[in-house]
Amino acid sequence: MAITKCPACSKPISDKAKTCQHCNLELGDASAEDIERKLSHERYQKLSRIQNQSMLAILVFVVGAYFVFMGDFPNTEKGVLMYNLSVAVTAIGFIWYAINRVRTTLTKRK
Ligand SMILES: [Zn+2]
Repeated sequence: MAITKCPACSKPISDKAKTCQHCNLELGDASAEDIERKLSHERYQKLSRIQNQSMLAILVFVVGAYFVFMGDFPNTEKGVLMYNLSVAVTAIGFIWYAINRVRTTLTKRK
């Protein structure tokens, strides 16, 4: 029995192990190439999920910004509340997008 490295988490595992005890990656009889293919597929799926979220974040940002700049808020308590809400939505959209940018970079770097 030899010790090898898990292709996913790089922690030491037995070369006889069917699954990685650290990250639960199923090794089975898969070759290194199979595992690499599986990992890149998972990475691709993760990236497209983040991409969808980025689109949604941009949409939230645009809608929020539209109301901030174009909205005609009455100078009442309700109007101020609506304005603050629009600013908050814009900020959330922007921050969400920024987070997704960072996640994309981190996922691609791995
Ligand atoms: Zn692992």
